[in-house]
Amino acid sequence: MEQLPNMRLTTQRQIILEELGKVTSHPTANEVYDMVRKRLPRIGLGTVYRNLELMADSGIILKLEVGGTQKRFDATVAPHYHVRCTFCGKVDDIDIEVQNKINQIAETASDYMILGHHIEFSGMCPRCSEEKKATSLH
Ligand SMILES: [Zn+2]
Ligand SMILES: [Zn+2]
Repeated sequence: MEQLPNMRLTTQRQIILEELGKVTSHPTANEVYDMVRKRLPRIGLGTVYRNLELMADSGIILKLEVGGTQKRFDATVAPHYHVRCTFCGKVDDIDIEVQNKINQIAETASDYMILGHHIEFSGMCPRCSEEKKATSLH
Protein backbone atom coordinates (compact mmCIF):
# COMPACT_ATOMS: atom_id res chain seq x y z
CA MET A 1 0.00 0.00 0.00
CA GLU A 2 1.23 3.43 -0.91
CA GLN A 3 1.99 5.65 2.05
CA LEU A 4 1.50 9.35 1.98
CA PRO A 5 4.55 11.20 3.29
CA ASN A 6 2.61 13.46 5.63
CA MET A 7 0.77 10.68 7.37
CA ARG A 8 1.88 7.38 8.76
CA LEU A 9 -0.72 4.71 8.13
CA THR A 10 -1.07 2.93 11.42
CA THR A 11 -2.50 -0.58 11.45
CA GLN A 12 -5.79 0.87 12.63
CA ARG A 13 -5.92 3.35 9.78
CA GLN A 14 -4.90 0.74 7.28
CA ILE A 15 -7.73 -1.54 8.38
CA ILE A 16 -10.20 1.34 8.32
CA LEU A 17 -9.05 2.18 4.80
CA GLU A 18 -9.32 -1.46 3.69
CA GLU A 19 -12.82 -1.85 5.10
CA LEU A 20 -13.96 1.45 3.61
CA GLY A 21 -12.54 0.38 0.25
CA LYS A 22 -14.64 -2.80 0.26
CA VAL A 23 -17.97 -1.01 0.14
CA THR A 24 -19.60 1.51 -2.17
CA SER A 25 -22.26 2.50 0.35
CA HIS A 26 -20.48 5.63 1.65
CA PRO A 27 -20.87 4.50 5.26
CA THR A 28 -21.25 6.73 8.31
CA ALA A 29 -18.64 6.60 11.09
CA ASN A 30 -20.91 4.20 12.99
CA GLU A 31 -21.14 1.87 10.02
CA VAL A 32 -17.37 1.96 9.51
CA TYR A 33 -16.99 1.18 13.22
CA ASP A 34 -19.21 -1.89 12.85
CA MET A 35 -17.09 -3.14 9.94
CA VAL A 36 -13.73 -2.42 11.58
CA ARG A 37 -14.78 -3.91 14.92
CA LYS A 38 -14.97 -7.36 13.34
CA ARG A 39 -11.22 -7.19 12.77
CA LEU A 40 -10.21 -5.02 15.72
CA PRO A 41 -12.63 -6.02 18.48
CA ARG A 42 -11.11 -3.60 21.00
CA ILE A 43 -11.25 -0.47 18.89
CA GLY A 44 -13.59 2.29 20.11
CA LEU A 45 -16.04 4.37 18.12
CA GLY A 46 -14.13 7.52 19.13
CA THR A 47 -10.89 6.13 17.68
CA VAL A 48 -12.58 5.18 14.42
CA TYR A 49 -14.20 8.58 14.24
CA ARG A 50 -10.94 10.42 14.94
CA ASN A 51 -9.03 8.37 12.38
CA LEU A 52 -11.70 8.96 9.73
CA GLU A 53 -11.51 12.70 10.31
CA LEU A 54 -7.70 12.67 10.18
CA MET A 55 -7.66 10.59 7.02
CA ALA A 56 -10.21 12.89 5.39
CA ASP A 57 -8.12 15.92 6.36
CA SER A 58 -5.04 14.42 4.72
CA GLY A 59 -6.98 13.52 1.57
CA ILE A 60 -6.61 9.75 1.92
CA ILE A 61 -10.39 9.38 2.02
CA LEU A 62 -13.31 11.62 1.18
CA LYS A 63 -15.74 13.05 3.71
CA LEU A 64 -19.24 13.79 2.48
CA GLU A 65 -20.85 16.45 4.52
CA VAL A 66 -24.23 17.87 3.71
CA GLY A 67 -25.95 20.16 6.16
CA GLY A 68 -28.21 18.38 8.60
CA THR A 69 -27.14 14.88 7.61
CA GLN A 70 -24.68 12.42 9.12
CA LYS A 71 -21.17 12.56 7.72
CA ARG A 72 -20.37 9.76 5.33
CA PHE A 73 -17.01 8.48 4.16
CA ASP A 74 -15.72 7.31 0.81
CA ALA A 75 -12.48 5.54 -0.11
CA THR A 76 -12.74 6.90 -3.68
CA VAL A 77 -10.98 10.26 -3.66
CA ALA A 78 -10.87 10.81 -7.42
CA PRO A 79 -13.52 13.32 -8.55
CA HIS A 80 -16.90 11.65 -8.98
CA TYR A 81 -20.55 12.46 -8.42
CA HIS A 82 -23.04 11.27 -5.88
CA VAL A 83 -26.75 10.76 -5.63
CA ARG A 84 -28.46 10.88 -2.26
CA CYS A 85 -31.87 9.38 -1.53
CA THR A 86 -34.04 12.13 -0.10
CA PHE A 87 -36.08 9.54 1.79
CA CYS A 88 -33.58 7.20 3.48
CA GLY A 89 -30.29 9.10 3.09
CA LYS A 90 -28.55 6.36 1.07
CA VAL A 91 -25.65 7.69 -1.02
CA ASP A 92 -24.39 6.08 -4.23
CA ASP A 93 -21.86 7.01 -6.89
CA ILE A 94 -23.14 8.15 -10.25
CA ASP A 95 -20.81 7.04 -12.97
CA ILE A 96 -20.83 9.93 -15.39
CA GLU A 97 -17.97 11.89 -16.84
CA VAL A 98 -16.71 14.68 -14.58
CA GLN A 99 -17.85 17.95 -16.11
CA ASN A 100 -14.64 19.97 -16.06
CA LYS A 101 -16.25 22.68 -18.18
CA ILE A 102 -18.26 23.77 -15.14
CA ASN A 103 -15.01 24.95 -13.52
CA GLN A 104 -14.28 27.28 -16.43
CA ILE A 105 -17.84 28.58 -16.45
CA ALA A 106 -17.65 29.27 -12.71
CA GLU A 107 -14.25 30.89 -13.04
CA THR A 108 -15.54 33.22 -15.76
CA ALA A 109 -18.50 34.15 -13.58
CA SER A 110 -16.46 34.89 -10.45
CA ASP A 111 -13.19 36.32 -9.20
CA TYR A 112 -12.18 32.93 -7.88
CA MET A 113 -9.59 30.60 -9.18
CA ILE A 114 -11.75 27.49 -9.28
CA LEU A 115 -10.05 24.33 -8.05
CA GLY A 116 -12.91 21.90 -8.34
CA HIS A 117 -16.57 21.24 -7.72
CA HIS A 118 -18.84 18.76 -6.02
CA ILE A 119 -22.15 17.65 -7.38
CA GLU A 120 -24.67 15.73 -5.38
CA PHE A 121 -27.90 14.73 -7.06
CA SER A 122 -30.97 14.08 -4.97
CA GLY A 123 -33.54 11.45 -5.73
CA MET A 124 -35.37 8.35 -4.60
CA CYS A 125 -33.42 5.09 -4.37
CA PRO A 126 -34.82 1.86 -5.87
CA ARG A 127 -35.72 0.47 -2.46
CA CYS A 128 -37.65 3.57 -1.43
CA SER A 129 -39.40 3.55 -4.83
CA GLU A 130 -40.44 -0.07 -4.23
CA GLU A 131 -41.66 0.72 -0.74
CA LYS A 132 -43.61 3.69 -1.96
CA LYS A 133 -45.23 1.56 -4.64
CA ALA A 134 -46.07 -1.12 -2.09
CA THR A 135 -47.66 1.29 0.37
CA SER A 136 -49.64 3.11 -2.29
CA LEU A 137 -51.28 -0.20 -3.23
CA HIS A 138 -52.99 -0.47 0.15
ZN1 LIG B 1 -34.00 5.48 -0.18
ZN1 LIG C 1 -18.47 8.17 -3.81
